Amino acid sequence: MNAVLKQADIIERDPRWQAIRTRDARADGRFYYSVKTTGVYCRPSCGARPARPENIAFHATRAAAERAGFRPCKRCKPDQPSLAETNAAKITAVCRLIETATETPNLAALAAQAQMSVYHFHRTFKAVTGVTPRAYAAEHRAQRVRAQLGRAGSVTDAIFDAGYNSNARFYENSNALLGMTPRAFRHGGADAQIRFAIGQCSLGAILVARSDKGICAIEFGDDPDALARALQDRFPNAQLIGGDAEFERLVAKVVGFIEAPQLGLNLPLDVRGTAFQQRVWDALRKIPAGVTASYSESGECVGRCHPMPSCGAQRSRVVGLSLGRGAQARVARARDARVKGATAGSEMEAAEYAAAPRN
Ligand SMILES: [Zn+2]
Repeated sequence: MNAVLKQADIIERDPRWQAIRTRDARADGRFYYSVKTTGVYCRPSCGARPARPENIAFHATRAAAERAGFRPCKRCKPDQPSLAETNAAKITAVCRLIETATETPNLAALAAQAQMSVYHFHRTFKAVTGVTPRAYAAEHRAQRVRAQLGRAGSVTDAIFDAGYNSNARFYENSNALLGMTPRAFRHGGADAQIRFAIGQCSLGAILVARSDKGICAIEFGDDPDALARALQDRFPNAQLIGGDAEFERLVAKVVGFIEAPQLGLNLPLDVRGTAFQQRVWDALRKIPAGVTASYSESGECVGRCHPMPSCGAQRSRVVGLSLGRGAQARVARARDARVKGATAGSEMEAAEYAAAPRN
């Protein structure tokens, strides 16, 4: 009896139990659970009547659940792609269409590619990527022009090659897209003073660079030093200023606000990167250059947040960031303990699940 109670207790303390109880679809794909009394395994979001905690076991993968002798639940069908996975595959196909088309297809054509109604497609695209199809296309085009401007050829060629069909319109927006004139960008940031900050986000290291005219680079990578070197290579004629504490705080704050690690987990990394980049760029664009400290005091909240006084998301995000570090330490400790043979693997998986930032 004591052993049963103890087992139930262990399960109830596991954060994954909470995900099962609340049928949290965000946990789908991150683990599975089996039920001893029925012999089946389920996704966390399964709508079946919840089992008693003492009869439950967690599995990191479908294969692990099946190896343990469980069969897939007929209700949540954990052996078939989930709705989230199906949607991600459709949206990825649309993103590829946008990226390869010479002119961005209209909404109806994109919806047809996804085999959805226009309304449903627009909503799904936004829900999966965090940006609208139009914003995604705009960011992709902007990335292309930045890359083209770094190569040989005329500025005009670079603008048209990237898919802009009006030179004048591009020039009107160049500060917002390049943080400087196309000519200055082309000439390695000639005469520009560029502040940059490097931080960490769910996609790895992130570098944000801003001139006094606007954002001129947002890049992701595994290696912060490589990001800094790439910035130097891109803007050899600019004066690069790192270690500006105010700017670093601003970037950390903006990235923290819009960070939504759950977003697009089923998307390829480059699609997630483009969408994330667009959201950071867009959020920073709303803050005039030169504004740093006053931003934090203005109480204004950018990205998907509401203004500060009612913005629980903003406050919890900041708290979430520091909790995230604590949770990472817990994972490290659990991992050490496992190495010493003192902790069961499932405890580490639970710690990892708890440490993974959530939306
Ligand atoms: Zn099920």
